[in-house]
Amino acid sequence: MTDFAIPILTQYLYVASIFLFVLSLRWMSEVKTSRYGNWAAASGLAIAIGATLLAYQARQLDLLVAGFAVGAIIGVPIALRLPMTAVPQRTAMSHAFGSLAVALVGVSEYYARYPNNLDTFTVSVLSAEMILGFLTFTGSCIAFAKLQGLISGRPLIYPGRIIVSLSTLAIAIALAVYLVINPLQEAVLPVMAAFALIFGFLLVMAIGGADMPTVIAILNSYAGISAAALGFVLNNKVLIVAGSLDGSSGLILAIIMSQAMNRSFLNILFGGVGATVTSSSQKEVVASRPVQSYTVEDVATVLESARTVVIAPGYGMAVSQAQYVVKELADILESKGIDVKYAIHPVAGRMPGHMNVLLAEAQVPYEQLWEMDRINPLFPETDVVIVVGANDVTNPAARTKPDSPLYGMPILDVDRARHVVFIKRSMNPGFSGVDNELFYLPNTMMVFGDAKKVLTELVSVLKKR
Ligand code: NDP
Repeated sequence: MTDFAIPILTQYLYVASIFLFVLSLRWMSEVKTSRYGNWAAASGLAIAIGATLLAYQARQLDLLVAGFAVGAIIGVPIALRLPMTAVPQRTAMSHAFGSLAVALVGVSEYYARYPNNLDTFTVSVLSAEMILGFLTFTGSCIAFAKLQGLISGRPLIYPGRIIVSLSTLAIAIALAVYLVINPLQEAVLPVMAAFALIFGFLLVMAIGGADMPTVIAILNSYAGISAAALGFVLNNKVLIVAGSLDGSSGLILAIIMSQAMNRSFLNILFGGVGATVTSSSQKEVVASRPVQSYTVEDVATVLESARTVVIAPGYGMAVSQAQYVVKELADILESKGIDVKYAIHPVAGRMPGHMNVLLAEAQVPYEQLWEMDRINPLFPETDVVIVVGANDVTNPAARTKPDSPLYGMPILDVDRARHVVFIKRSMNPGFSGVDNELFYLPNTMMVFGDAKKVLTELVSVLKKR
């Protein structure tokens, strides 16, 4: 191929990959087309990589092949074996690696252009993207550690923490400004990077585990913005567009999730939710309160006289992989003429869309999934709600207790139904660590046990009757 044709072909390939990225986002917005969305994104990425190798006339193929091999050896088993419940932490690690790569490319660009090609624009953009990249790296590592349970999910709260965090960021930004004015002061760069790394660490350490989904979406957005900025320095259009798509979609997701929790960004970033909830005194209160335990036979009896049943799934359904038996139960109830719906809370589980994905896997018709705003007005007319491994998303403290960390978060109003059946293993609180008042109400039936096991027994009792 002539040297003249390669740049033209590269631009066409970039346009094709950008088109596939946009199409992928469009397809991913609906369950029916989401698999195509995945393929479109993967193909777009493959084309972009191929075009870049072509454009730069890649010579050291041995290094490239080795890089691909290492990535594939790590990535393929993760993709094939990872349980659905661990996807949030995997996403956090992807952001960590992605942002570190972007930040390191930024560092190498600075040194490659040193000393003659460091104009004000280049150093400004490089500094901004390095700060974002490095803080996203440590922030994502901490998010991973919290979600994986390697460290406590509780926020690290200490007097003056907001001042400490913001001062760290301010120092990193001040050093970036200094570097822009004095681009040849190369010693500033590692110090600026160190402050950005520390800020990412402090930022996410101070955020409670219950807010990790929003934090991951925000970090996703930072990683995207950082990649887009690098695209300007490298004059790489596909990186600008892909980074912008990543940055904006992450931000939109974070906004949607904050709205689902009725919280502002600032409240999530500096609110410290989860700090106050598991004090020993509160644990004693939880332990000392009486609660009524029921059997699957009791539940079967209540279900047989029901006309409308709503199933509210949560994280516990994912843990016990109970979605198939949930569907089996719904089929039996429907065969008895009972109307069955599923109540989907936007942050039920451990990642956005967690419940939708699991229920789709079990072939639950999409029309039966009712989002929170649509299902809530129906609870007062519902005979039985079966809460399968959900907790925080049903906690009435979010409506009634202004001092509760969950206060203000929209919940599924399951307490307004005639009967509420809770299937969970113990009296343990959910992810936020907040006790659930609903367990003690007279119309609540607690059935203790693993969700899959309890529901399998319930199905067999209903089949026999
Ligand atoms: P919760 O974490 O509030 O509650 C889950 C419940 O499931 C627990 O109380 C647990 O009780 C029970 N459980 C666990 N394993 C089993 C099992 N094998 N069988 C039966 N029950 C089980 O989950 P929700 O879905 O109600 O709420 C989600 C929470 O997670 C919210 O606080 C949300 O902010 C947060 N979050 C959401 C993310 C998202 O993107 N969706 C991401 C990260 C956090 P027990 O131990 O007694 O069985």
